[in-house]
Amino acid sequence: MTKVTFYRGLREIGGTVVAVETEKAVCLFDFGFSVTERADSKVSLREGHIPQDYVRAGMLPPLDGIYDESCASELGLRPYRRGGKEYFFIISHMHIDHMGGLDMLSPHIPVYMSSDSLRLYRRLASQGELTYREHRNCIGVGYGQCFSVGDISIKAVQIDHDCIGACGYLIDTPEGSICYTGDYRFHGYHPEITEAFAETCRGADMLITEGVTVSSADVDMLACERPEVMRTERDLLSETEAIMRSSRGLVVINPYNRNVERVHELIDKAASCGRRLVLDAAQADYVKSFYPDDTVYVYAETIHGRSLPGGAGIVDRSMLLESPESYVLQLDYGDQYELFDLQGAVSAYIHMDGAPLGDYDPSFAKMKLQLAELDIPYHYLSLGGHAYPYFLRHMIDVISPRILVPLHSKRPEQVNSEHIAERILPYEGQTIEL
Ligand SMILES: [Zn+2]
Ligand SMILES: [Zn+2]
Repeated sequence: MTKVTFYRGLREIGGTVVAVETEKAVCLFDFGFSVTERADSKVSLREGHIPQDYVRAGMLPPLDGIYDESCASELGLRPYRRGGKEYFFIISHMHIDHMGGLDMLSPHIPVYMSSDSLRLYRRLASQGELTYREHRNCIGVGYGQCFSVGDISIKAVQIDHDCIGACGYLIDTPEGSICYTGDYRFHGYHPEITEAFAETCRGADMLITEGVTVSSADVDMLACERPEVMRTERDLLSETEAIMRSSRGLVVINPYNRNVERVHELIDKAASCGRRLVLDAAQADYVKSFYPDDTVYVYAETIHGRSLPGGAGIVDRSMLLESPESYVLQLDYGDQYELFDLQGAVSAYIHMDGAPLGDYDPSFAKMKLQLAELDIPYHYLSLGGHAYPYFLRHMIDVISPRILVPLHSKRPEQVNSEHIAERILPYEGQTIEL
């Protein structure tokens, strides 16, 4: 008998945790942090109790078979052990709400992800961007490749999202197949990849899909028409180009550093405008590890003891001040005070999905106040990584599953299609037999 249990992330955007259990194995996905009202980053986690504090604070689920001895025994759970049912994770992509909890797992539990995600994960670890510790037992899988654990076999299927390395999974069990999309969109550089995902997963028995874009406004998904015009990554690139061309001084950008492809494209776009894109040390590392042929420049003031990719050119503050019209500077919010010394040279600040992401983060208002104080024009050029509602339905229509389970949405009941036999909106902890 195959059982699918929905633990977390069902009516929120974050912390999706689902388990597929067969006679011989338990496959879990994903493992990011939940959004919880009572957790507070201002309260310190206790040395020696970090994973269990995350569970007790409500950010990770209390599950058997996945934590190490000391964490599990404190929580009254069964620890991860080899032998018996084989527990393992599959991770869709490297956004914190999908992978932030990896550090807290038993170091021995196998965690599968795309080879590209693994490459990024290792670089995040080396740049000090993980929460606690690097998970050692990660296994990279090529797109389109299959692997088996016990009586479950899994295919990693590439999907397009605003994070390099994203994939979904087709999970084959003795009782049927389950498709998990992770996060996806049809308006990135590679809509054909997302389209191919749908084709590969056509006919899955159960489809577990995200539904981020129907989280706020009322949407009648069955009535959605294909949008005639829709903003894409290429549009965002052109909008950025227009600002680069019309600005007389330095242009500062704040993208999300895990969207490596966007930064790679911006390097070329800046060059075509007669500017060099100067990256912080971590961003330069990520770009160079995926695009080794790119010429990267690192801003000296952001190195902070971090490792630099080989062959990187170094640009320092005096060079920006001397010839601001020749550069674009990628600046992480954590380095924002660098603007105190660049103030007179900056003509534009383009906020393109780097933190702080929005009003829910108190830093968002602070960032804008600081820019206003410095008299730096602020441009908000954001483009999400989630499929517009019509395309959520399109994904479901193509796959035409027997059972649809929408989650990773504040209003999953708005996700619908006429090409399904049944839709389930599970409650936390609900188990469905396949
Ligand atoms: Zn994501
Ligand atoms: Zn997500």
